[in-house]
Amino acid sequence: MGTFKHFYHRDYQERTDLVSEFAQLSKEQQAQLTLDYQQKNDHLIENYLTDYALPEGVAVNLVVNGDEKVVPMVTEEPSVIAAASNGARLLSRDNGIEAKVLGHNLMGQIVVKTDNVNLLTGFVNTHFDKMIEVANQAHPSILKYDGGAKEVRVRQLDETYCSIDLFVNVGEAMGANMMNTMLEALADFLTDKIEGTILMSILSNYGEDSLVQVQGAVSVAKLSTAGIDGQTVAKQIVAASHIAQIDPYRAATHNKGIMNGIDAVVMAMGNDWRAVEAGVHSFASQNGQYRGLSDWQIDGNKLVGKLTIPLSLGFIGGATKVFDKVKVNQQIAKITSKKELSEVVAAIGLAQNLAALKALVSEGIQKGHMGLQLNSLAITAGATEDEVSQVVQQLKEQHQADLASAEKILKSIRNNEGE
Ligand code: NDP
Repeated sequence: MGTFKHFYHRDYQERTDLVSEFAQLSKEQQAQLTLDYQQKNDHLIENYLTDYALPEGVAVNLVVNGDEKVVPMVTEEPSVIAAASNGARLLSRDNGIEAKVLGHNLMGQIVVKTDNVNLLTGFVNTHFDKMIEVANQAHPSILKYDGGAKEVRVRQLDETYCSIDLFVNVGEAMGANMMNTMLEALADFLTDKIEGTILMSILSNYGEDSLVQVQGAVSVAKLSTAGIDGQTVAKQIVAASHIAQIDPYRAATHNKGIMNGIDAVVMAMGNDWRAVEAGVHSFASQNGQYRGLSDWQIDGNKLVGKLTIPLSLGFIGGATKVFDKVKVNQQIAKITSKKELSEVVAAIGLAQNLAALKALVSEGIQKGHMGLQLNSLAITAGATEDEVSQVVQQLKEQHQADLASAEKILKSIRNNEGE
């Protein structure tokens, strides 16, 4: 324990030396650890050691509100971008996916210990204007960005606790820091004026006032696969979407598939994917049971999908200003505002969902997955760039998809080359 006392006070060299010694890293491992050092990130997080890179690619074929989008995605899961592009292509007819931002506010709460909800509600109603003013004064520039505090309400949580909920239009930012600053100022203002004690002040990631709705359609005929006609595939997708509504076990994986796409874009755009995950999953449980986020129905000769999710994203602020690549990614996606970002993120979620459901109810998920997974196996086995395709080819021929087989094949390729 003593080794790491005041670890954060130590300089970079001392920190890496201590960790290397503690973990008995070899000289090569230590070099690997420090290879991607970025000075500016040493100031971004505590106890910084290195940068940890993930692959970035682009999803193509996506059309959102009539605009073609090329969407940067950061993910380590081999099949995610292929599936997003595939689902996007299916949903690209006419104007593509229709996307609408339904709410623009972030919500924060001041939790108060009081058994008198009526008294607290009365106070908030009477002092509404002053409370809005106090919140705005804590971060006055928000008014310059056409935002600001909009609403205050009181909710009773149980017999002893209430929440004062503050709704703020946080402009083009995700707004967490902005909101927390406003809440803390408001809590200071309230402390000696209300009956009760304040337990905490913090934004909520639930996001009921930052919903984004997307809808897309595909001709049933376009869903046919080798051996299964489009009508059958469409009906099975509708059934799969129903199962995600009635079974939380299935809903969890249904939603994980949606988040495969959403998280990857959120990361590429320098946003807080933990905040997005927390919001989306709590929204999926809004009626007391965890449910699938999307809904697929057949309408005439079309399969129509809808997805509504809370998204508290920032076009400005947070890590978007720290990582240079975010600006490049915003430009690749031709995204110029938080509204467009939210629309594209939700649209990718819907496209991802369609591709996953179509695969699940037809050929199964593994066929598409394994094609890309084999690359990953070959790389894990140690194949160089020139060797990957040979290893993958032989894995396919031998109908194998495990690491031991990949290693065996690689060994034999190298032995043969050595002969
Ligand atoms: P910032 O603290 O970076 O704030 C954004 C800043 O951008 C504003 O304060 C404002 O600064 C500036 N700005 C410039 N133009 C605009 C505009 N048009 N609209 C709005 N702001 C503008 O980030 P956020 O407040 O957005 O907070 C996001 C960060 O908070 C993320 O990194 C997140 O991970 C983290 N976080 C998340 C929590 C959670 O989700 N539970 C909790 C705590 C933190 P100025 O007024 O100076 O011009």
